[in-house]
Amino acid sequence: MTAGSFDFAPLLAAGLPPPAVKHAGFPKFNFVGGHNDAEHVPVDFELRGCPISKAQLLEVITAFLHGRRPAVSPHSVCVECKARGNVCVMVAHGTPCLGPVTHAGCNALCPSYHRGCYGCYGPAESPNAPALTAQLREMGVADLDLVRMLRTFNAAAPAFRAESEELTS
Ligand code: SF4
Ligand code: SF4
Repeated sequence: MTAGSFDFAPLLAAGLPPPAVKHAGFPKFNFVGGHNDAEHVPVDFELRGCPISKAQLLEVITAFLHGRRPAVSPHSVCVECKARGNVCVMVAHGTPCLGPVTHAGCNALCPSYHRGCYGCYGPAESPNAPALTAQLREMGVADLDLVRMLRTFNAAAPAFRAESEELTS
């Protein structure tokens, strides 16, 4: 089964449990991926990623149906990267990586293939973008390239937008 082929019909046909009804209905769940739609439309829970993670999607649906908080960690890609035992591409190869400020969920896909993270999952919780860009500058990354990195995905996400605007001011 792929995330795109998930069949919601049996869940809906079975009727919604009280927690789902209380929270205004599972069918109204608005899953957004890699963008900043929560600023424009009401959402019950925001999943990061473009596309979003199938595992995180199923976790949110399961949690919602049981009336509990989804166990979707807000930590950065670096945590997943270290959990996989990856060698850090920044430390080992000087490859720019947005992993320290990017929301987890992809299981550190890009660094696992020796590539830097491009930030497609959007900002992690409380990201320190200025600290990362200062480090990337020290590594020789030009400001214009830093701006491009921050604006490739999630350009309007507050943490990324603020830092890219700071770099261009
Ligand atoms: S490769 Fe990127 S995501 Fe992995 S530990 Fe290094 S900075 Fe973090
Ligand atoms: S760009 Fe970053 S967040 Fe997106 S899949 Fe690659 S490592 Fe994961």
